[in-house]
Amino acid sequence: MADISVIGAGYVGLTTGACFAHLGHNVVVADVVQEKIDALNAGRLPILEAGLHELVREATAAGRLRFVLGAAEASRGAEFHYLCVPTPQSADGAADLSYLKTAAAEIAAVLAPESVVVNKSTVPVGTTTEVEQVLGRSDVAVVSNPEFLREGSAVQDFLHPDRIVVGSENRRAAERVAGLYEAIDADVIITDPVSSELIKYASNAFLATKLTFANEMATLCERVGADVHEVMKGMGRDQRIGSSFLNPGPGWGGSCFPKDTAALVRIADDADCTLGFIEQIIALNNEHMRRTAAKVAHEVGGSLEGAHIAVWGLTFKAGTDDLRESPAIEVIRHLIAGGASVTAHDPAVAGAIAQLPTVEVVTDPLQAVRDADALVVLTEWPEFTDVDMVKVEELMSAPIVIDARNLLDRDVLQSAGFRHVGMGR
Ligand code: NAD
Repeated sequence: MADISVIGAGYVGLTTGACFAHLGHNVVVADVVQEKIDALNAGRLPILEAGLHELVREATAAGRLRFVLGAAEASRGAEFHYLCVPTPQSADGAADLSYLKTAAAEIAAVLAPESVVVNKSTVPVGTTTEVEQVLGRSDVAVVSNPEFLREGSAVQDFLHPDRIVVGSENRRAAERVAGLYEAIDADVIITDPVSSELIKYASNAFLATKLTFANEMATLCERVGADVHEVMKGMGRDQRIGSSFLNPGPGWGGSCFPKDTAALVRIADDADCTLGFIEQIIALNNEHMRRTAAKVAHEVGGSLEGAHIAVWGLTFKAGTDDLRESPAIEVIRHLIAGGASVTAHDPAVAGAIAQLPTVEVVTDPLQAVRDADALVVLTEWPEFTDVDMVKVEELMSAPIVIDARNLLDRDVLQSAGFRHVGMGR
């Protein structure tokens, strides 16, 4: 079993640390935020992620998982160093590598000879070489090992991945990294670092493309009288297409797809190879979120001015508390720009949210709908299907539901007296 340091205690770092410890390795996770480390050392998790708390509890009790402040503190004495820090979008669309380079600089002096630094953050092509340069350590290998987990099922995805990708010019180092996953039954793809880095961006861009395809087809279905779920089911049965990621919604978002598609466009530009269709996917997604808000405007009489809209769902998907680049937030911004006031409820969000200072966030779905002119469902939380829609109808000013996730039962809504507007049906 190996000694591993994990730099960054976020969605990826905490999951990586807890899962490696679960597999039997000795792990030290570092962050720069004192409150996160204090919370973790007090047994509290700073994020919502199914199954993660149990793994952290089990591994800390077994003495295989610790949390410390500062990357150097974690990396001293470790054999593998996982960089799991943010790579957000910078002003020109490219991935901002400043966190990654800072973390690499912090650990450079304490790395044991023959240890391996692993990029798990999503990074543009050539970053493996850039990290080597920042480290300035010819006795330490740098390996790319991108992460494909989904928030909401991160632990499950880490422990049961579709594939593990490892990229390095140093075959021995790549094999050592692959060996950390020995207990996991999955295909391991060992490749060069540039291909490994690109596999991650290509995968996310393809998934975003599938979602945009479903959203565009949903709009067409509405015009021609087809049901998008029937169309996607019929398409998805074709094994060359596959049925996942074909659900229409209010638009895609989250902490990865928007920044990763933008970064891929920049990677292509820098290589004099324009990826026009990815630019088009990004533009179509922005247009789809505007269209979702326009649908609400249409249902409340053509204008949002003075309308009171109830929203269920703020996170970018169910099962997470992550609000980064949530399509729900973007749609609400359009509603507010049109003159509406918004009261929102989300099972994982409490209190005011910085991105939407004028939106009242309430803890009860029934409180959110009081006197509302329409209810808009923007996140697919299963909890919403349990709410008594007869009570909802009694509390609202007008019985209108715009279900941007096609989550609620049409028959239940209709028998409660609602006008129900879905996506693509
Ligand atoms: P996050 O923001 O949740 O966590 C990053 C953590 O790193 C933060 O807690 C931050 O304080 C910490 N940090 C920053 N600089 C540090 C330093 N010098 N030393 C120690 N800690 C430091 O980010 P995330 O969602 O976990 O994403 C991390 C990377 O993984 C990104 O590149 C992202 O694109 C990629 N990724 C994310 C997901 C996902 O679903 N969130 C999936 C696959 C890949």
